[in-house]
Amino acid sequence: MPANSTELFDRLLSDGDETTAGNYFVANYPPFSFWKKENTEEVARVLQTPPPAGTPLGVYFHIPFCRKRCHFCYFRVYTDKNAEEIKGYIESGMRELEAYARTPRIAGRKPKFVYFGGGTPSYLSVSQLTALTDRMKSILPWDEVEEVAFEAEPGTLTEGKLSALREIGITRLSLGVENFDRHILEINGRAHREDEIYRAYSFARSVGFPQINIDLIAGMVEETDENWQRNIARTLELQPDSVTIYQMEVPFNTGIYEQMKTEGKLVAPVACWHTKRRWVNEAFSALEKNGYTVTSATTAVRDPAKTKFVYRDELWQGADLLGLGVASFSHLGGVHFQNLPDFESYTAAVAAGELPIGRALETTSEERLIRELILQLKLGRVSRSYFVQKFGVNVSERFDAQFTELKRRGLLVEQGDWLVLDRSALLKVDVILHAFFLPQHQNARYS
Ligand code: SF4
Repeated sequence: MPANSTELFDRLLSDGDETTAGNYFVANYPPFSFWKKENTEEVARVLQTPPPAGTPLGVYFHIPFCRKRCHFCYFRVYTDKNAEEIKGYIESGMRELEAYARTPRIAGRKPKFVYFGGGTPSYLSVSQLTALTDRMKSILPWDEVEEVAFEAEPGTLTEGKLSALREIGITRLSLGVENFDRHILEINGRAHREDEIYRAYSFARSVGFPQINIDLIAGMVEETDENWQRNIARTLELQPDSVTIYQMEVPFNTGIYEQMKTEGKLVAPVACWHTKRRWVNEAFSALEKNGYTVTSATTAVRDPAKTKFVYRDELWQGADLLGLGVASFSHLGGVHFQNLPDFESYTAAVAAGELPIGRALETTSEERLIRELILQLKLGRVSRSYFVQKFGVNVSERFDAQFTELKRRGLLVEQGDWLVLDRSALLKVDVILHAFFLPQHQNARYS
């Protein structure tokens, strides 16, 4: 935190700014640009150490295949892989899991949560999904699993596939709706159309998933006030258990940025941040009027007592996460690491019997404290006693300058044990979080 915290917050909180290229969301800490190839031996070390008793374990598998690449997509995805290559990729992921399962860190553990992300996990066929999950369960049994989350693109779902997913044990189905308007879906490069959303949603409801989430994006290319209101109305009609709303960002590896470069533009052809925040706020207000509760900067849920998101909550409290597949992120015993970032090098490393790790970072205790604090601030509230118990640190004292400045601006209040962000702060929490970074991580590239 610099000497002049008022100035720093003035800069961070400046409003109405245009959307320019770059990563906006804070998904982890320290920033990825500090993870290095030369640190990968730290992973070998942590794998030789059994975990402290009671450490929860999650498994993430990245399925990097999609029908087509959305113009705003910044994930590692492939649209040209044939069935043989997909089969080989799944085999690589399972061999990777088998290798981890032989290490003292993972052997004998049972995952508390499993997450299939992408890409488009629902791009896989029923037989591929069944074979994959049977194999995963035979390596690390799912009998203690509390949540199995699965991302799906509406146009890839049939009634048969949804029934199979439910039978496999998926508990949280997340539908990548993004927008309900045919034209907006089309010009943003989405593969699905509006009618496929309703069809997939109604099939999903009929097979009885415990939780259905709908993802929306505020600020897709050509979004308007009128259409955004329609998105809110359609969402309320469907009554999903949870709604996740992202503010559109334009990272450098997107089709939109390529177009900006070609046209020599610095400002992305999407709404400014002020408008995107207003849209999310309008959606949250409408959801709240209809009985939903806002539970994070991006999420509203219909019944907070029933609707949990184990993957997010465990990860943000420092659980072990084993990330399988190309470019996947892991966190084991305080060591961050990411797999090799392209298909060929990832599958070649697994075939050679190596762990396919591209870069890593062993975090300090202070970095782990900051990581959990900033991630939990994204929930809109943090418990001081949690940090005292876990890290022996009173965060109000350790981050006095930041919390005092937020209180002075009316953006944060104390409620007993809790430090609670107000709604306007929650909607721009990803910029506020930078004020909590260590000096060497301020202004770092977030990729
Ligand atoms: S469906 Fe998702 S992962 Fe696939 S290209 Fe579109 S945004 Fe990227």
